[in-house]
Amino acid sequence: MNIIEAKKRLEKLKIEIDYHRYNYHVLDRETISAAALDSLKNELFALENEYPELITSDSPTQRVAGAPLDKFEKAKHSRPMISLFDAFSESDMRDWKERNENYLERNLTEEYYCELKLDGLAISLNYKFGKLILAATRGDGKVGENVTMNVKTIQSIPLVLRKPEEKELLEVGFLKSEIKEVFSLLEGGVIEIRGEAIMTKKVFADLNKKYLAESRPALANTRNGVAGSIRQLDSKITAERKLDFYAYDLLLGDFERGEIVDTKEKSDALVRLLGLKVLADNAVCKDLDNVFSFFKKVGERREKLPFEIDGVVVKINNLKMWPVLGIVGKAPRYMMAYKFPAEQATTTINDIVWQVGRTGALTPTAILEPVNVGGATISRSTLHNFDEIERLDLRLGDTIIIERSGDVIPKVISVLKNLRSGKEKKIIPPSVCPMCGGKVEQIKDEVAYRCLNKSCFAVSLRQITHFVSKGAANFDGLGPKLIEQFLASGLIKDAADIYNIKKADLLSLERFAEKKADNVIEVINSRRELDVARFIYGLGIRHVGEETAMTLAEMIIHEIMEGAQLSKKVGAANAKTQLSGFLKIEHLISVLQHKTEEDLAKMEDIGPIVAESIYTFWRDEKNLEVLKKFEKNGLILTISTPQSKNTKTSALTGKIFVLTGSLSSLTRDEAKDKIRTLGAKTKESVTKDTDYVVAGESSGSKYDKAKELGITILDEDEFLKMIK
Ligand SMILES: [Zn+2]
Repeated sequence: MNIIEAKKRLEKLKIEIDYHRYNYHVLDRETISAAALDSLKNELFALENEYPELITSDSPTQRVAGAPLDKFEKAKHSRPMISLFDAFSESDMRDWKERNENYLERNLTEEYYCELKLDGLAISLNYKFGKLILAATRGDGKVGENVTMNVKTIQSIPLVLRKPEEKELLEVGFLKSEIKEVFSLLEGGVIEIRGEAIMTKKVFADLNKKYLAESRPALANTRNGVAGSIRQLDSKITAERKLDFYAYDLLLGDFERGEIVDTKEKSDALVRLLGLKVLADNAVCKDLDNVFSFFKKVGERREKLPFEIDGVVVKINNLKMWPVLGIVGKAPRYMMAYKFPAEQATTTINDIVWQVGRTGALTPTAILEPVNVGGATISRSTLHNFDEIERLDLRLGDTIIIERSGDVIPKVISVLKNLRSGKEKKIIPPSVCPMCGGKVEQIKDEVAYRCLNKSCFAVSLRQITHFVSKGAANFDGLGPKLIEQFLASGLIKDAADIYNIKKADLLSLERFAEKKADNVIEVINSRRELDVARFIYGLGIRHVGEETAMTLAEMIIHEIMEGAQLSKKVGAANAKTQLSGFLKIEHLISVLQHKTEEDLAKMEDIGPIVAESIYTFWRDEKNLEVLKKFEKNGLILTISTPQSKNTKTSALTGKIFVLTGSLSSLTRDEAKDKIRTLGAKTKESVTKDTDYVVAGESSGSKYDKAKELGITILDEDEFLKMIK
């Protein structure tokens, strides 16, 4: 993106963000999820970082939170109600610790205090001489709205603080001197308690049921429900909403925080004794590892909790450290909002690929600018059918909202049409099949477009399954089921595409969690080098089995070696690379394209029919395209060291072996390798030229044929002795 494009995008982003912000923060109406809005802000922030000259004072990145509504009396906060820094991963949390250690210039060994991060409305309660005199919203952090009348309807907020007994305070660790100060504040000072007003999931569901019956607009979510209840002028409405309140902060009068109470844990205990609710789940964690397991357990229970939470707030338990660490920018160093991964994000559509299913139905998949959503990077999303594209009015280049929760496959939720630049392109279904090139038609009365070639999917599936099979590329763990899923979801069209599969692609598929995706990527990466004979066999050229592939490979290696020696004499630079054990696909193509059908037919074991098939294969444009794609996607062809170097001349040199049945001490491939290194050959069928037939368990017709022709038959023991 150049600066002119950036400026245009930036302007559009600012307007879009401001529109949603106004709805969300001022009108308490949700026109976009908080996560998607964050995603837009992140894009804006990144753009402004790249082009600082484009930052303006009215940019949404230059402000903290919503301004207070005029309809309320303003309330200035004694100390700012600051926002928190966000962390989304363990590494973010470790970075936070490291930053604090750098700041303190020492190791941070303090305990942490973990609290569930409630998703409601932050409220500050001021008690003077023990009586509630003011309740205020956060507002812009410095000045909030006086919502005392409404907050007074929340039953769990006491209008007069409870006076604890001395005994109770002693039990939770207070010293006599501390107790004296608490009592004097209760009687003659100000105590401020901050916390979150919330609406439980049950109240939310009941209210919406009621509103539905009365044809009133439904509440978007619990946070919205709380905000809408408190930030309106009729206290009767607030009362009907049955809100609840949990405290998370205690500010004791004019004293610098940390001076009366020394830990957050003790502070919470005091708040409870003063008659307010504090979440029972809050806990001390002695180090970050404990924080991580707390976070994990909370995440598992999240759905079952009676209220909505969006993460865990992690604070340094030692309150004496709070003023030491202080505040940087708009948030404190001593606490961190460790958030659950956002389930929505915004990104752009780079392309549409059409996948062909078993029935020939074409399904569009959106190729996305990779984006982190639901804790993973996602790069594709299925769109189910062409109707979906029309319903969303989706175009190439559009900015969209994508959603992913848990292991559910990502879904395009909506298009942000205001962000269009005019360069977006309409999406039309293909007229020819992307897999076989066959005709595509929309069948009458059907949503789907279909490839009319009935064997389209089956042929591709068979070809790819053959390529990954044991005798060819040998992709252990990439069974036919997975290949079918990849093919049906449009992730691959041919075998070469396998080498280009990314983790983000896999996470977009059904039944693919983090670990399974990692395993598949590991298998693919472990197979990036492939012997040229196995490669040729894997291509599935008609009539070319393992033996013929081997013959072709030997011929190719031989020619390239000769070529290399020739070039060596004239000092060609690439001679060395050709000998180093790797083979470029273009060399492979070039050698085979220089062979006439007659040349090929002269080779051992290759008759005119096989020769014609090989000849045609290496001249087909589509095949050549796929061949080059293999290399582009990171496949490296290896050549085994030529036989003349490696093989000992033995009594077996030149002998022909045929294997039948299974051996108990080594696999068929191992046996073949062994035979080859001794200078002998293996063949698939028994002829009069065969020297030995090795018969393992349950050997079949080859055994009978050998008997008939009077060929020496070896059992496993005899064979092992011979090749020793
Ligand atoms: Zn087709």
